[in-house]
Amino acid sequence: MIRYGQQDITQADIDAVVDVLKSVNLTQGPNIPKFEQSVLAHTGARHAVAVNSATSALHIACLALGLGPGDLLWTTPNTFVASANCALYCGAQVSFVDVDPRTYNLCPWALEEKLIEAEKVGRLPKIVVPVHHTGQPCDLEAIHDLGKRYGFKIIEDASHAIGARYKGEPVGNGRYSDIAVFSFHPVKIVTTAEGGMALTNDDELATRLGLLRSHGITREASLMTQPMDGPWYYQQVALGYNYRMTDMQAALGVSQVARLTQYVKRRHAIADRYSTLLANLPLTLPWQHPDSYSAYHLYVIRLQLEKIGASHLEVFEALRAKDIMVNLHYIPVHTQPYYQMMGFRNGDYPEAERYYREAISIPMHPALTDADQDFVVKVLREAMGL
Ligand SMILES: *Cc1c(COP(=O)(O)O)cnc(C)c1O
Repeated sequence: MIRYGQQDITQADIDAVVDVLKSVNLTQGPNIPKFEQSVLAHTGARHAVAVNSATSALHIACLALGLGPGDLLWTTPNTFVASANCALYCGAQVSFVDVDPRTYNLCPWALEEKLIEAEKVGRLPKIVVPVHHTGQPCDLEAIHDLGKRYGFKIIEDASHAIGARYKGEPVGNGRYSDIAVFSFHPVKIVTTAEGGMALTNDDELATRLGLLRSHGITREASLMTQPMDGPWYYQQVALGYNYRMTDMQAALGVSQVARLTQYVKRRHAIADRYSTLLANLPLTLPWQHPDSYSAYHLYVIRLQLEKIGASHLEVFEALRAKDIMVNLHYIPVHTQPYYQMMGFRNGDYPEAERYYREAISIPMHPALTDADQDFVVKVLREAMGL
């Protein structure tokens, strides 16, 4: 079976996890700050807060930025549901901005148009969540400029994009956003099994994220409202959660992040090879903006259906029938039944919907061999009747 994405686990990863199992702290041990520091070293941000998933990171990022009932968060429909759900957790409302037809990322022009309309009716968003789809960075500078003009905060959902670069700088460095979030789910670039991280350059936001990760509890005198009663003392100063990552996961993360640059290079080599093998077929291949160096979490092809003697579903099923576990990223969030209950309709975001009717994520992960790739291309050609 060839999967669309999967983890790469080395003996060093296994040893790192086993070492923690033999140590005193299975959670809240020394590997958490070590992992946070290793990600900071790659991104150049000031603060990192490791948590148990990117979903949790998005939730506490929204809370740290003060999102609550009556507020609005906008994101792209072409994302995993978590990018939108985080607003609902906070009692806020969600709306979407359609995607750019070339990058499949949130379109800054569509964003500007929607902001102009929203300003007229006094319904501007408090937060916008651009998602770096497939690992290709969004047009962050344009979104950041709009943020300054219209007064919204920015959370980058960089779940696909650790190791990516935008205008020559690492994604996650916070130059164009308030908080950036990474995911370490096994299909992502580096993994901790489950895990996520929120990064920021803002000291106050970092403190809030740290509190929200662990029950809103602090042991730091400077954050308390009165002197400590004694060495046992802690204070709950906010309503937080248990979103902590274990020390085993963090140790795995440290070991994995050591191979981040190598992984992204390998993903680029696979992407380049696909681009050669698939050239001249009735497909739209991933277009790369010159400002971006993608992390290539995914390699998405779009079928030019008018030139192919098979449907989207038929091509997808033909690949799966040969144990090529292709996938589709993403079903537009506004078409999910839960979102339709809120009033969203098919047709609301036509670019994301058109993309959905044509897109297939073909296998992309560091362990993919040339033979695997050749097989994928062969089956794909046959499925398209070529
Ligand atoms: C994977 C993913 C998430 C959720 O990540 P978890 O770590 O599984 O919670 C959120 N947004 C996007 C875009 C993702 O791909």
